[in-house]
Amino acid sequence: MKTINFAIDLGTTNSLIANYNNGAVKIYNNPLGLKQTLPSCVAFRGNRTIIGDKALDYLEKDAENVCMLFKRKMGTQETYFIPSTNKEMSPIDLSSLILKELKNFVTDTDQLQTAVITIPASFDTIQSNATKKAGYLAGFKEVVLLQEPIAACLAFANQSNLDIETSKNWIVYDFGGGTFDVALVEVNDRELKVIDNEGDNFLGGADFDNLIVEKIIVPKIEANANITNLWKDIKSKSSRYKGLYFELLKKAEEAKKELSVYPETEIEIDIDIKDDNIFEQIVITRAEFEAVITPKVEQTITFIKKVISQNQLLNSQIERLILIGGSTYVPLIKQRIKEETGILVDSSIDPTSAVVDGAAYFAGSKPTTIETEKTIVVEEESSIDTQIFYEQNTRDLEELITCKVSGTDLKYRVTRTDGGYDSGIKIIQNGGFAEFVPLLKGQLNQFKIQVLDQQLNPLKTINTIAINQGSYNVLGQPLPIDICMEVDDIDASVTRLEQIFRKGSILPLKKKIYKTASKTILKDSDANLIINIVEGQSKGLPSSGLSIGYIEFSGKDLEEDLIKGTDIEIELEITESRDLKINVYLQACDQEFKNVFSQSERTISISKINMEINAVLSDVEYLIKEQVEEENFEYSNKLEQLRVGLIEIQIETTLLNDDDVSDKKYQLDDQKRKLIQTFDTLTRNKVVALEIEEYNISKDSLEWEVNKEENEKYRPKYLKVIANEKEVINSGDKYLIRAKIKELDVLFNSIIQSSDENFISYFFGLKYTSGFTDTKKADKLMKQGDEAIERKDYKSLKHIVYALYALLPDREKEKQKQFKDDSKTGLR
Ligand code: ADP
Ligand code: MG
Repeated sequence: MKTINFAIDLGTTNSLIANYNNGAVKIYNNPLGLKQTLPSCVAFRGNRTIIGDKALDYLEKDAENVCMLFKRKMGTQETYFIPSTNKEMSPIDLSSLILKELKNFVTDTDQLQTAVITIPASFDTIQSNATKKAGYLAGFKEVVLLQEPIAACLAFANQSNLDIETSKNWIVYDFGGGTFDVALVEVNDRELKVIDNEGDNFLGGADFDNLIVEKIIVPKIEANANITNLWKDIKSKSSRYKGLYFELLKKAEEAKKELSVYPETEIEIDIDIKDDNIFEQIVITRAEFEAVITPKVEQTITFIKKVISQNQLLNSQIERLILIGGSTYVPLIKQRIKEETGILVDSSIDPTSAVVDGAAYFAGSKPTTIETEKTIVVEEESSIDTQIFYEQNTRDLEELITCKVSGTDLKYRVTRTDGGYDSGIKIIQNGGFAEFVPLLKGQLNQFKIQVLDQQLNPLKTINTIAINQGSYNVLGQPLPIDICMEVDDIDASVTRLEQIFRKGSILPLKKKIYKTASKTILKDSDANLIINIVEGQSKGLPSSGLSIGYIEFSGKDLEEDLIKGTDIEIELEITESRDLKINVYLQACDQEFKNVFSQSERTISISKINMEINAVLSDVEYLIKEQVEEENFEYSNKLEQLRVGLIEIQIETTLLNDDDVSDKKYQLDDQKRKLIQTFDTLTRNKVVALEIEEYNISKDSLEWEVNKEENEKYRPKYLKVIANEKEVINSGDKYLIRAKIKELDVLFNSIIQSSDENFISYFFGLKYTSGFTDTKKADKLMKQGDEAIERKDYKSLKHIVYALYALLPDREKEKQKQFKDDSKTGLR
């Protein structure tokens, strides 16, 4: 078995590459500057592309042709226009340049075809896929993704060589340049498992730099030079202060690093503003710096508390909190975490290289699917098929190797390559064997298996088995967010999310689900069916989630009509590296759509953010009014906070130019999604309570009907519907409850409609309804109805009632739960 061995930390600010070899990790040095990190920065000078530290130097001279912090925009459609080449570069293009440059660090092999690349735990599927694309673009034949906090834990566990007897909880706090992640990890004597994670893709050390510029440097310049609006001006692409924003950011970063060591620092400003040259020395104190970053630091602590409490843990149950990421050098961070949580804060591993180090251990245990020419030759030589199973990393001193072998009358022999163990020649029985092998402590143990014939001629030799004693293993990478499919809701006027894979499930995942077509799609027609896969809370509003792709079929793609009610078989698969594959099989048409999934990228338009906020705002405002009337002030206050939050985002969007070059748009979109999620959570209980109320009303009226002597035959059906009532109500899932209500109503309607006489009360109910779409026609029908009742002609009355229904406005139809066939997705 050949393992991947190479690992890359593709960081927002700094990237690193390492190799795993015989139980040891080697982090490669940047040939320029003799340090391990490569700044994730690219500069373009005509035909030349400059990467890393040299590129950073160009920020001051020619910031327009320098790209950095692009990891924050991975998975978006935003591109960077490079004036010097007159070309657009995507975040994927830029990332691939960083990866190519890292490949140049590796001079001791030409076998660098596959690598583990790390991603923040909070990266969604689109961002993960974008990272992989960058890898392939850089020439890798295989890319495996690993979440950064897992990598950090592996580094810590393997470096500190702890002996962990009982299971422990750790927290990894990763505060880098552009992303913040906190992960809760369970560690036992052999493996690590991420239980939960929280984070923010738009929170990092770069925000500190930005705050220093916005809140400290710019106000000081404005005061001294007697100008206003400098902040807005320097951020705009079309601004005449070209590059000044980046220049000030660089100075701010230097100041920030100084302030991690000294109580104050000084920066020099030399710029031209409105034809005046401004030259100043600006002193920044640690207290000033801490004052502006405090809200961000507190935000990170809220995430720590959240991840602990949502897993029903106490702070005392967290054994240690491991700090990684360059921003954790800021003393305030360590201090505030200690003060606020009382957890042991561990800063023993190098915050910059921890991720690549751990990722290399992982790479050392991950088999590669890329076959070198040599192994292919071995396969061709032998007619014997073998399948071998064993743990690649273990804390035990003995491991089991099991092997399935094709062929009969064979023998085997297992030896350790250092000569310390030999199984002797044994007979293979029942198509295989299992052998316990002893391991050397703290080393990579390599074994050779030989399959021999009766005359002891070797038929096949496998010498790629490597077991690393003393290393921790990763149990699996969890899915950070639910993956759902958008389906039509019961009444089809809205859609809802149906969970397919649950947050925390260990990748890879595969599932076959059966859906029903909720509308008919005729062959060659324009009608369509949409399969939209959304990443987000399954009980949430579809707009609070992130669409990670969809398949759309229209009648033009079909070979036969797709009839409403027929089965649609959908198979979904997510690999460990977050590839999403969908196979759709339409049973009625006997037609299959394979791998037709198209990846969506993330587009963010300011007007779209505004529109979505407006839609939710009206609901929020309506609820506030209602709650205030009911004197439910605690609840209305929470809603009021939400309302303010949403309006703040709206105001901020109006301050943004469409060509804004900062990350503000993405930050605002993220904030918007989070607020809508909160709204969803806040209102869910209320919505569920309303559904339960409605359920009881429907049940009461049905019960009343069933209790009538003539309806006795419906009782078994009724009992069947309410059989799992408790379970449904306790689920707190409004969709399940609503489905139950629908069942009750269907039964109610069929009882009512089974007897023409029942239409009398219906008819009288309709008489007191107002707002018919055609009052003249309605009046006429009313008159006919009255006459029919007089004649006791209930058959005609029935038809009159139906006709009146059709004249009801939509709002009333909704109340009467009339079935509407205006499905959205075509799936139910
Ligand atoms: P990433 O993983 O996002 O690439 P790193 O973990 O390398 O980032 O951290 C980079 C961030 O750490 C940058 O914002 C940098 O300014 C910050 N940083 C590095 N050293 C220090 C320091 N001594 N004090 C404060 N911040 C620092
Ligand atoms: Mg990092």
